[in-house]
Amino acid sequence: MPWRRVEKTRAAAEGKTSKPPAPRTVAIIGGGVAGLACARRLRSLGVKATVFDTGKREPGGRASSRLWCGQVVDHASQFVTCLDPELSEVLASSGAARRFGTDGRFGRLSTEGFSAIDDQLERWVGIQGMAGIVKALAQGLEVHQDVWVPPSNGLQAAGGSWNVVVPRDQSYNFDAAVIAHNGKCAERLTSSTPAKEVHALLRTNFAATLPRNPAPGSGRFTLNQIYSLIFEVPKGVMPESFDAAFVENEATLRWLSSNTGKLQQKAEHEVWTALSSPAFGKQHKAPQEFLEGTAKEAEVVDLMLAAVEKAVALPAGTLGGATGAVRHTKLQLWGAALPISRWASSDAVDFVWSAAHRIGIAGDWLSSVPERASTIEAAWISGVRLADHIAGHSSDDAGLQLGESGGVFVPVNADFGSSGSEAVAWVDPESPKGKGKGRKGKWKGRSNSRGRG
Ligand SMILES: Cc1cc2nc3c(=O)[nH]c(=O)nc-3n(C[C@H](O)[C@H](O)[C@H](O)COP(=O)(O)OP(=O)(O)OC[C@H]3O[C@@H](n4cnc5c(N)ncnc54)[C@H](O)[C@@H]3O)c2cc1C
Repeated sequence: MPWRRVEKTRAAAEGKTSKPPAPRTVAIIGGGVAGLACARRLRSLGVKATVFDTGKREPGGRASSRLWCGQVVDHASQFVTCLDPELSEVLASSGAARRFGTDGRFGRLSTEGFSAIDDQLERWVGIQGMAGIVKALAQGLEVHQDVWVPPSNGLQAAGGSWNVVVPRDQSYNFDAAVIAHNGKCAERLTSSTPAKEVHALLRTNFAATLPRNPAPGSGRFTLNQIYSLIFEVPKGVMPESFDAAFVENEATLRWLSSNTGKLQQKAEHEVWTALSSPAFGKQHKAPQEFLEGTAKEAEVVDLMLAAVEKAVALPAGTLGGATGAVRHTKLQLWGAALPISRWASSDAVDFVWSAAHRIGIAGDWLSSVPERASTIEAAWISGVRLADHIAGHSSDDAGLQLGESGGVFVPVNADFGSSGSEAVAWVDPESPKGKGKGRKGKWKGRSNSRGRG
């Protein structure tokens, strides 16, 4: 029997035959773009949303910036691509974003050097970096900042509602809960709750590529790892012909941009961001919290600076090493960087909702549109659509169905996270229906063919 039907039967057995009222209070665990978008929309629909986020000073997650060497620096997300007119309107009216990539200074670095990308896609950057956009999204919301909901017992089912228990034993009760983060934390947070089907979707694998021929039932949500190196360099050392580029001529790197140029900052020196390829991130994997001051940090910085020199055709040693021009560096490993598989649900929604348990998931990996997956836009849409569902259709499951006629994980071919594989996989092996039933042929047509431009 499919899980969905099991849930409904259980609800009937518990005497819940009439539709319960829509949730009036919702806990959102995770203050990235998905969580904030969900909270904003819920608020506009008259539902009280409370966001819990680990960020020390501000929300944003992977869409955040830091102030470094006197400049705003985007150390993960670089720009927002907009296919959705509503997001476009939100950004335009936020006062925090401006259009990006239309002046010929954004493009790609290939063996022929820099060439501008002119693909007519709508892109935006934050005037004060990504953090500025997130700040605008979070305005007026109830966000409990610097709060980690502990994965061991931070989320507890409480007879039809949810308790969020945070350090210092503070407990909050809500009609419904939203998991708006991913990785091991989300997996553990839901592992001891009764919402088993929600937990099944949150089980995470870490890899730079997906298996080429996955065993039936081997599908899982998969995240890659990416190093972000920021470095300060005097003006005139790096090329002046571009501000931002995908790197195609150097395997270590995927992205290179000047925060000074991209964000139009007036400064004596330039601050650049280099993002590694997922393969490099995996090869040099290290405990991300304990990187500072280690030999691994020094090794990765040297390798990435050498790769930057090659990518922009500077003589070796111009940037790095004892005589190089780079004055300061900061290295960060994004250990849960980009989803390289997305959840393609059978009902083609961009979120997950369990009506029986009143818990949902929002995030960049829940995307019904291939070219949007693993992006800020995907996260935003996921949050907004989950909020609409909670307010209007909370008695219906959505995006949840596993098994023979259910959803599947399919590869993402995004710019920072391409797996380059056509593999198509089922949901995890422990789902009752997933076990031993490959459906490779049927779902092949739903895998991605286009990248994120
Ligand atoms: C290096 C890099 C570059 C990228 N570049 C781009 C780009 O240029 N353009 C683009 O569109 N996308 C880009 N992305 C992807 C983009 O950043 C993500 O798709 C998007 O930010 C995901 O948002 P989210 O809300 O789903 O998740 P997240 O941003 O991961 O938000 C989850 C939040 O939950 C918090 N959290 C986790 N566990 C708990 C807990 N137990 N309790 C409380 N809070 C918790 C986290 O701290 C975080 O703030 C990039 C990503 C990376 C890593």
